[in-house]
Amino acid sequence: MANSIAEESPTEHPDGVTHSGWVERFPWLAQGTTGRGAPDQPFDLALFGARARSADAMSAWSRLRSQVGLPRAVHAHQVHGAVVRAHGDGPPGLFVAEPCDGHATRSPGVLLTVTVADCVPAFLVDPVQRAVAIVHAGWRGVAAGVFESSAGLLRDRFGSRVEDLVVHLGPAICADCYEVGPEVFEGLGLPAPAGPTHLDLRAALSDRVLAAGVTPGDVSVSSRCTRCGTGHFSHRGGDAERQVGYIGIRR
Ligand SMILES: [Zn+2]
Repeated sequence: MANSIAEESPTEHPDGVTHSGWVERFPWLAQGTTGRGAPDQPFDLALFGARARSADAMSAWSRLRSQVGLPRAVHAHQVHGAVVRAHGDGPPGLFVAEPCDGHATRSPGVLLTVTVADCVPAFLVDPVQRAVAIVHAGWRGVAAGVFESSAGLLRDRFGSRVEDLVVHLGPAICADCYEVGPEVFEGLGLPAPAGPTHLDLRAALSDRVLAAGVTPGDVSVSSRCTRCGTGHFSHRGGDAERQVGYIGIRR
């Protein structure tokens, strides 16, 4: 089973959270999930045309880069698929990649980001090769194999062995708050119930992480729910905004 952890608030994000155990274990790492800190400055809605507020959106990204201390942020329009892209160095600023649901890098100074509001932000660290990845995983992404895809990319591009990976599943919707139809269970390859049933999306993802070969003690799951907890945006809770999950290697 995956370890459940209670994340602590990092100093750089008053309403965000970070994996407290990783702060000590990986001092070279920047990792976290922002919170409801600035609902007037949504992270990606304006970026992709849902709102005509690009100046506000760009300022939110700029603030994130400066608060975390990594000059280059990478993001992409997310499509609930399994495509994950690798990134090298580049100039400071926000780089919007071709649509995909995950990113990987071994380049210090590059901040990989996904936006989430109930979907799972999954963080992958390879301390041996010092490479990282992040994934946006809703049920469709989990079913499509976005985690397996990210582990495969880390292996192919950076030589990461899956048994060296350390994985954290961040704030997302909990089973109590997530009732879904039988088609979702079918999509995930799980026994389909007769009608609407509660699903623990992070448990389903965690099972796949372990099946891929990650060591059980190296998988942790946030105790936070985006819907029934406080501090995060929730799509099912009616929020249009999203928080950002981020990971990067400090210079
Ligand atoms: Zn909940």
